[in-house]
Formats: sequence, structure tokens, C-alpha cells
Amino acid sequence: MSLYALVDCNNFYASCERVFAPHLIGQPVVVLSNNDGCVIARSDEAKAVGIPMGAPLHDYHAMMKKHGVAIFSSNYALYGDMSARVMRSFHHFTPDVEIYSIDEAFLGLSGFDETTLPDHMRRMRRAIRQWTGIPVSVGIAPTKTLAKLANRIAKKYTSDGVYMMTDHDLMPRILGDIEVEDIWGISKRWGARLRQLGIGTALQLQQASPRQIRQSLSVVGERIVHELNGHPCLTIEEVQPKQTIMSSRSFGKMVSDLQSLEEAVASYTARAAEKLRQQNSRAGGIYVFIRTNRFRQNDPQYSNAAMVGFDDATSDTASLIRAAMGAIRHIYRAGYRYHKAGVMLTDLTAQDGGQMSLLNPDPTPDETRQSQDKRMAVLDRINTKMGQGTLFHATEGITLKGHKGGNIYGRRIHDPRIQGTERWRMRSQFKSPAYTTRWNELAQVK
Ligand SMILES: [Mg+2]
Repeated sequence: MSLYALVDCNNFYASCERVFAPHLIGQPVVVLSNNDGCVIARSDEAKAVGIPMGAPLHDYHAMMKKHGVAIFSSNYALYGDMSARVMRSFHHFTPDVEIYSIDEAFLGLSGFDETTLPDHMRRMRRAIRQWTGIPVSVGIAPTKTLAKLANRIAKKYTSDGVYMMTDHDLMPRILGDIEVEDIWGISKRWGARLRQLGIGTALQLQQASPRQIRQSLSVVGERIVHELNGHPCLTIEEVQPKQTIMSSRSFGKMVSDLQSLEEAVASYTARAAEKLRQQNSRAGGIYVFIRTNRFRQNDPQYSNAAMVGFDDATSDTASLIRAAMGAIRHIYRAGYRYHKAGVMLTDLTAQDGGQMSLLNPDPTPDETRQSQDKRMAVLDRINTKMGQGTLFHATEGITLKGHKGGNIYGRRIHDPRIQGTERWRMRSQFKSPAYTTRWNELAQVK
């Protein structure tokens, strides 16, 4: 039987802040979006005092003060690095790790003894807590869809943060309590369609006819039914996390030089940006990761990730690529054979409803943004019509036919603004130091 675990960091951004401010453990903590606009992460205690997700700071500032809530500006250098540490830790417990979002990963657990697996995962959870300071929850099940649900149960109802959902007697009761919209991959829109068919719970969807679901929700919907019945058939590319767009791939052959990595990352970024515009969103941040092949035990191993936040959320391919290039150069180390790279667009907001920063001293002017939008619309239209990659950014690299592997163009963008992190400095009144990535901001012991 196949088995997967979905590991999710609890209240990730808030937990990262607490690692370096342990006096805040047990206290309400919130993290704000770029430019301190609204709440994007809350500790359990902050949820309990009634601060909603997305709460605008200016509306809730007084209330937060009253409840003694600790407020942090977003610190993407810290979150990106902490994420890389957590993701690296998984490899000590299974070779099969699939990063799903900045704070979630699926672990493949085929071949593990089912009876000792929960203990193995408890040990992993304790180790991650000890190594990184981040608390995680683990849901184990025969499919990724069920592992997602098991994770919710682990988080809500267990004291040790681990739940294995293979007990078939209990399964109907558990699934009967879960709304269809809470299933991985079921959007609000799909939920509404299912409810019209009289399907409101995970149990009802599990028992539905796959063919009927295929007719109203496409083949992905049908696969979700199979997954709920314990048959793995969904890939994570088919189900995007709501707040993330991911584009990553294993390389056909190992890559060692920075230029090839830059080109790979630029083209993943371009693809992710296209998806972003298709769903009319903008991204508030971009996360870039690279890693060597863990199965080649004689190769030196390295993996790392970095994250860049934007002053104003963007869907402009050029801006996203520029940020990704800054990130890849920051984490690249020579002397390793890289096997995989990827980018993740995070903190998505709606194209129109996106927050513009009123306080930003150097905002993207509306005209700039409009002309970027127009440019991107043209790019997407041409690529849709003429085939993907007809028009692309030079950084993605060009390989000429008959000029095997020769990149004739697409060296780095020489833009002084992308050196260091100055380019992305933003309004951040409550920002914690980059404890883990800058020597002069290390945590101090008094
Ligand atoms: Mg989480």
C-alpha cells in the first residue's frame, strides 16, 4: 500500500518569529503583509482573540494593543531560510520529499512499516522542533488527498501533532464531518456545483460516481474521488495550493554552472507568472529553491532556498524574473551537481483588489503598472496563439538548433538595483532582524 505524509508547519510565519523571540511562545503574534498592510499570519492565541486573516492593521491596531498582540512586519529573508531548514530536515527521515508550499511538503513513505510509522513521524517532529524551532503537524494516509485531511485532524485533535488515517472503521465518521470545500483541490466554485448535486461532505463525495463527478468537475474532480477511496492518482501540479503557484522540475542532466540554473529558474518563473495572470492574481513574494540529487550518495549534497518580497504585489514577468535572479545568485554555490530547481509565487492577491501601498516611498506608479499589465497581456496572447515560449525573456536562455546546448544570449541582467536586498526594501516598521542570513543581525545572547 502506498503511504504519504503531509507535513505542515503550524502558523509558519508567526512560528519563525517566535524562534528568535521565545518569550512570545504562548502569546498572540501576528505577521503583516508587505508594507504593513494587513495580517497574513496569526498564532493560535491571536486567532483566539478574534483577529481575522487579512485584518487591516489600521482597523485592528487598537484592539491588538489592548490584547498585547506582538506585531511583526514580514521578514521574507527569515521565512525563506527557515523553510529551507525545515525542508532539509525531512531528508533525514525519508528520501522522497516533494515541496508543496513554503511551509508544506508531501513525504513518500512507501516501504515503511505501517505499525511503526507514526512513531517514526513523531521522532521527526521532535527533531525538527529541536533543529529549527518550528512546530509541525503530520497527517499520514494512503493518498495525498487523504493525507491533507489527516493533517487537519492532527492539528485540531491530537496532542502529539501526528495522525494516521488508515483505520477504515473510523473513516466514514471522519469524512462525514468534513465539508467538500475543505478537501484538497475543491474550490468554492466546485463546492457550489457539488452541493447542487446533493454532495456536501467528503463522505458523500467519496461515495459519488466518479463518472458523474468527471462530467461536472473534469478529470481532476474524478481523481479526487479515487483519492478519497485510497487510490493515489493526483500529482501536486494538478492541485495548486490556494495561496501559491509552483513551477519546478528535475533536470534531465545534472547542472553545475550558475548560468544554466539562472536560465532554468527564469523559465520556471515565466511559466509561473503566466499561471498567475491566468487566474488574475499578483504575487507578494517569490521563493526560489535548488538542490542536488540525494540518491547519488557519493556526490556532495547541498540544498537551499531564498525568498524575496515585493513592495507592491506584481504579476509582471520581468519583475518576477529579476527577483528570482537575485535569489538564485544568493543561494548558488559552485562545486555541486544540481538536480532540481523551482520557484514558488506566494502571498497571492487579486489583480484588482491587490493592496497598493499608500505609504511606500517609491511606489510602482499606476501608469507603470498599467503598461506592465498591457505588456503582459500581449505576451500571453501571443504565446497562447503561437505556442508556449514564442515570446520570452532573454534570461530564460536560448538554445539554437544545431548549436547543441549553446546559449548565445541570456547572460545576466546587469541591473545595479538587483544587487543585494536594497531593491526590495519595503515599509516594515515592525521587522525582526534577518537572524539566520546576515552575520550582523545574528541573535544575541545577553
Ligand atoms: Mg502552515
